[in-house]
Order: sequence, then C-alpha cells, then structure tokens
Amino acid sequence: MAELTGEHARVAVIGSGFGGLGAAVRLRREGITDFVVLERSGSVGGTWRDNAYPGCACDVPSHLYAFSFAPNPRWPRTFSGQRHIRAYLEHVTDTFGLRPHIRFDCEVRALRWDPGALHWEIDTTRGRLTADMAVSATGPLSAPKVPDIPGLETFPGKVFHSARWDHDYDLRGKRVAVIGTGASAVQIVPSIQPQVQRLTLFQRTPPWVLPRLERRIGGVEQWLHEKVPAAGALRRAVLWGVRELQVGAFTKRPRELGMMEKVALWHLHRAVKDPALRTVLRPGYRIGCKRVLLSNTYYPALARPNVDIVASGLRAVHGSTLTAVDGKRAEVDAIVFATGFHVTDTPIARRTTGARGTTLAEEWQDGMAALRGASAAGFPNFMTIIGPNTNLGNSSMILMIESQLNYLADYVRQLDLHHDGPGDGRGKAALDARPSAVRAYNDRLQERLRRTVWNTGGCDSWYLDAAGRNTTVWPGTTGEFRKATRRVNPAEYEVLRIPAPPGP
Ligand SMILES: Cc1cc2nc3c(=O)[nH]c(=O)nc-3n(C[C@H](O)[C@H](O)[C@H](O)COP(=O)(O)OP(=O)(O)OC[C@H]3O[C@@H](n4cnc5c(N)ncnc54)[C@H](O)[C@@H]3O)c2cc1C
Repeated sequence: MAELTGEHARVAVIGSGFGGLGAAVRLRREGITDFVVLERSGSVGGTWRDNAYPGCACDVPSHLYAFSFAPNPRWPRTFSGQRHIRAYLEHVTDTFGLRPHIRFDCEVRALRWDPGALHWEIDTTRGRLTADMAVSATGPLSAPKVPDIPGLETFPGKVFHSARWDHDYDLRGKRVAVIGTGASAVQIVPSIQPQVQRLTLFQRTPPWVLPRLERRIGGVEQWLHEKVPAAGALRRAVLWGVRELQVGAFTKRPRELGMMEKVALWHLHRAVKDPALRTVLRPGYRIGCKRVLLSNTYYPALARPNVDIVASGLRAVHGSTLTAVDGKRAEVDAIVFATGFHVTDTPIARRTTGARGTTLAEEWQDGMAALRGASAAGFPNFMTIIGPNTNLGNSSMILMIESQLNYLADYVRQLDLHHDGPGDGRGKAALDARPSAVRAYNDRLQERLRRTVWNTGGCDSWYLDAAGRNTTVWPGTTGEFRKATRRVNPAEYEVLRIPAPPGP
C-alpha cells in the first residue's frame, strides 16, 4: 500500500461513514477533485461497518435513512438492517466514483494548524500530508466506551463491546452478561436470548420502548419506487414531515409526550405479565429524555425463563463473578458491553491542535461548542460533520449531515471568493469562526435546550456531558437546521491571510 509522502490536498476528509462519503460526493459536485478521504479501517461504512452485532438495525425508516441524492428503491424492509445499510454505502461509493479518493487503513493520529502556511499538517498511520481544509467526519458514535470496572482484568471468559462483536465466539450454551439497556442492547438481547444458556442483563435505567411498525417491502412496492421515483420521494417526504411535527412535543410541549408514554406502557403490559418484572422495566423519567427505542421483541425476550434482570449497574468483577451495585451476583462465561460511545469526549478532539496551540479537547473542557455544529473558534478551515448539538432524538441523522454538506460547499466557495493570489499559495485565505459568534450561537442553543425533555426529563443520558450540559442535541426541527446551515455568514468569521514576510 502506497505511503502518503507529503502530498497536499485541498480538502482532507476524515472518516468514510455517511458523513465522510457525503462530503466526498458534495465536493465532487462542487467541481473539487483535489481531496482525500482518510479512513482508519479497511472499508467504508463507519457505524454500519463496525456495528455488526446480532440484530443491528436502524430505528429510522429506510427511505428516510438514506441520502436524498442517492435513493434506494430496493430497500427490502421498512427499517433496514446493518447489512443492507452497509451494502448501500458501498454502492454509493462506487456509483459516485469515490474509491480513488479514499486512503484506507489510514488513521489520523494528529492534525496541527500551521498559521504561517494556512494549512493543516496531518499525521496518519500511512504518512504525512497537508490540506487547506480539514473536515472531521469521525462520527459521534464511533469510539466504543467500556466503563472502568474494577477487576475486569481478572475475568477469565470472553469480553467484547457491541461495536466490536466477535463473530468467532460461539454464544450457544453460554452464560452471558449484557451490560447496558440502550439502543444496541435492545437489539442484541432478543437476538441472542434463544441461543444462550442464561442471559443476565445489567440495567441501570430501563428504556422507553415503543412498538416497531416493521414489515417487508414487497416486490410491487419496490418496483413502483424504481419506476416512479416520485413515489419514493413522496414516501420520504411523509416520513420526514411526521417527524418534524413530533419535535414540538420534545422541545416545547412535554405534556404531549403523555400519549406516547401510554402506548409504551401498553406495549410493556402486553408482553410482560409478571407485575414485579413490569415494575423493574417501567421507566421513571419522561419519554424522549433518552433516545426512544423501537422493538417488538425486547420485552418478550426479557420475559423468557433463561433471562435475569439485575436492576442496577455492574460494580465489580472477581474472576467469573459479576457483582452489581445493589450487591446481586452472577456467574458468567462472557460479557457484552453495550455501553455506548465516547460522544462528548471524542478522540479526534484530543488529536486536533488549532491556531492557539491548544487542542480542541482543551478548548472544549467546559463543553463542546461550535458555530452551526461546524466551526470551533481558533480552528480555521476545520469543520465537523455531526459536530456539537447536531444530534436528533427522533429523526434521521442523514438529514442533518446533508445540511452540513450545504455548509461545507458554501465554506469552500467562500474560501475561493477570498483567494486573491495567483494560485501558488500566495493570496490564500482561511476562515476562523469569531469567538463572539460561537458564543452567541451556543448561548441561544442552550437557552432553547433549557426547557426541552432532554434537559428536564429526569434522566441521565449520553446527550449530557460530564457537567450535565447538553452539547449534543439540536433543539429544533431538521428544517430549521437546514435553514441555519444553508450559507456561511461571512460576518461570523474572521478572514486570515498568510503573514507578510518581514521587511528588509
Ligand atoms: C448501532 C447504531 C445505530 C444507529 N442507529 C441510528 C438510527 O437509527 N438513526 C440515525 O439517524 N442514526 C443512527 N445512528 C447514528 C449514526 O452514527 C449516524 O446516523 C451516522 O451513521 C453517522 O455517520 P458518520 O459518518 O458521522 O459517522 P460514522 O459512521 O461513525 O463514521 C465515522 C468514520 O470515521 C472513521 N474514523 C474515526 N476516527 C478516525 C481517525 N482518527 N482517522 C481516520 N478515520 C477515522 C471511522 O472508522 C468511521 O469509518 C446509529 C449509530 C449506531 C452506533
């Protein structure tokens, strides 16, 4: 595999999930071909390559969880499984001719802004390169988080995280502990429960679970979407519109959530007959505070005789004995950590050093903050895709990614407008978000978030950072975010130029 030896790109995109691949398509559409996509793994797909655990699937309907510019009329189910989404992203990569731009097995170890040259110096596992602009599409949920459990190193059995599933390990007949009850656990538990001898679920907080209205998409329907693209577009528009209408309940009218809670409780009562188990599974916070999960199989699996629920977190491991915070114990052969990801302490932030010589992680010590989810002050020509406060509680992240692609396209256009040199580096410009603009934007966001269910619903979730600040969720509709990111507002940025050489 060829090493990168000091090559220069106009744009370096980090990551090849939906965000990175979308950025690549958009740059090509803007007529930019001088860009690279740096991917630490050996294939594209991001989330949908790494999360291959049994039962992994999307919680957003297939026709909405896809790029608007690359509809797939052949989705086989209303909610797609991991395998089909991964295949879709491989297909997008080929259809848009992205492979020549991608450098696989190329992990970005460090990025440093060079204020003298107005470019990023990028150190990767395959060598160095420089780029006028860096786009971090490393994903909000791509660095698995395993809690620091005392004694875990003494465990003699198998241990893995849901995003690093060991498919060579046979769970049949084993005593398995699943740690966590988030989106991944809700899919893993019913998938492995029939195979394992005993399943012990460590539940700190029960999730709200709604029915999953899932079905196969028949051949005639697929044919219709293929032959009449407007039918697919209409379906997407309806799916989008319904979710836009729900946003008010999460942000302004929490009373409306009562109806959803009733449906979820009915769903629980229907599947679980044991009143004691129901009590354990009944959430004690408002629906929506944590991500609402969709499953028809989770509760029935928990009601099976080979499943135990420990209603508290895992405290310690001593050999093959797991001890919960409430003192309950379980002997197991394997531990599956379905404990989520480093969301508010993303590794790329520690690796990115800006104009002031500090890392993004240092700048974000008091909480992540960026202008329009994209630009942090002091990090010129650097953009995050799915950056701070761009996550959604109820709709498709692809909508947010596409909005950020609009912003990226305009950012690059603005750089062109400011370029007033012959093209050999002289006259080059960079854009640095003004601290006052970043502050004003985030103050507005935090004010809006104050009364939302994510902040007030009475739960502890990955939406909140260690200080309890919500730096992850977008507090409006996706349409509002589309509007907010349509164009770069030049007043919000300072234009930087290469400093003139000292006079004679
Ligand atoms: C199990 C699971 C289910 C989900 N379900 C939904 C859902 O139902 N609906 C929804 O809207 N969203 C869902 N999401 C969120 C999902 O992460 C986003 O929708 C979207 O896929 C994120 O795309 P991305 O490109 O930003 O990040 P990712 O898909 O995470 O891609 C990031 C890429 O960056 C690469 N990378 C990271 N660091 C480096 C580095 N230093 N150097 C080089 N490469 C690097 C990674 O290898 C990866 O390929 C789910 C996430 C998970 C984990």
